Amino acid sequence: MRDMANSITIKRDYSLREHNTFGLDVKAKQFINYNTIDELVEVLASLKGKEQRILHIGGGSNLLFTQDFEGTILHSGIKFIEYVSREDHEVVIRVGAGVKWDDLCAEMARCNYYGCENLSYIPGEVGASAIQNIGAYGVEVESIIQQVETIEASTGKPRVFHHTECGYGYRDSIFKHRLQGQYIVTAVVYRLSPIPIVHLDYGQLQQLRSHAGTPTAQEIRDAVIAIRQSKLPEPDELGSAGSFFKNPVVPAKVFRQIATTYGDVPHYVISEDEIKIPAAWLIDQCGWKGKSHGGAAVYEKQPLILVNKDHATPTDIIKLATLIEQSVLEKFNIHLSPEVNYI
Ligand SMILES: Cc1cc2nc3c(=O)[nH]c(=O)nc-3n(C[C@H](O)[C@H](O)[C@H](O)COP(=O)(O)OP(=O)(O)OC[C@H]3O[C@@H](n4cnc5c(N)ncnc54)[C@H](O)[C@@H]3O)c2cc1C
Repeated sequence: MRDMANSITIKRDYSLREHNTFGLDVKAKQFINYNTIDELVEVLASLKGKEQRILHIGGGSNLLFTQDFEGTILHSGIKFIEYVSREDHEVVIRVGAGVKWDDLCAEMARCNYYGCENLSYIPGEVGASAIQNIGAYGVEVESIIQQVETIEASTGKPRVFHHTECGYGYRDSIFKHRLQGQYIVTAVVYRLSPIPIVHLDYGQLQQLRSHAGTPTAQEIRDAVIAIRQSKLPEPDELGSAGSFFKNPVVPAKVFRQIATTYGDVPHYVISEDEIKIPAAWLIDQCGWKGKSHGGAAVYEKQPLILVNKDHATPTDIIKLATLIEQSVLEKFNIHLSPEVNYI
């Protein structure tokens, strides 16, 4: 790189323990943090032609490092929240990829702008929200994404993806498949609503319906945080990557067979032919709740979450996940696929 007068930081043989919420003590050969788009372009130019893997991470809350990373990890420190327009019916904001997702949710709730309050308290950063299509309590972030600003990793050139080009699906986007690793998100443009648009269909959030008047974005955010704190492990206290597996979607015929044997099976009807079954229920039926393998365990309050209970190694977590997959396959003939990114 030309000179180090900028704010790029480079670390070598660097522990990623603080950069993955599983808390795994794996190392990266090189770790680079940049703070502006110009710095990112400079970093990419310096890495060009070198035969090594490059991985861009956010807060590491959906990653499972399976071993030391023999390449360069990039991390964005681009942090800003900018108002593009503020009108009576909509508010458009542009947010730097390195902003903590929940800091954005807190700010929007403070202003009483609706759109991301149900997604409060999800760990991670703004850049990854657009890659992952994060979702919770009946809302997916794609519903408020207008466009995603990126830099092409191979050329350093900017490209803006409109929402319709992002191929969003359940925890999915084009950036996870066809364009995987090809574009680095630098900012995301979201559209929020100053007029209340609320989603209170999910379980305990329904209580807010009896609220006198429409709840504020802050009230919904507070309720979501309370529910999450009662159910999910705090990454600082117990390492995890949230839901380890996706909820499988099965043919209606398979669902009916399972329901005949097990009676009241929780489910969500996708269409006449397809039913989504909670992976947590399948795992629980296989008797995994609270069970462990080495230092890895199935979280007692929510069997969809694998936790680093006691100095787990990547192998402990991989083995536990494999055993769970096998038993769900044997018992229900359903393949679970991981929601976490294996690296
Ligand atoms: C306790 C807990 C609860 C969770 N609850 C939820 C939940 O309710 N709903 C939900 O959807 N998820 C949930 N998650 C998962 C996780 O928080 C999300 O997937 C989040 O979006 C990951 O953000 P991150 O910044 O940590 O990204 P990382 O895990 O670091 O990366 C995720 C992916 O994004 C890519 N990426 C990251 N930043 C960029 C960038 N700037 N440009 C290009 N690619 C990038 C990475 O390469 C990787 O493929 C939870 C996780 C935990 C630990």
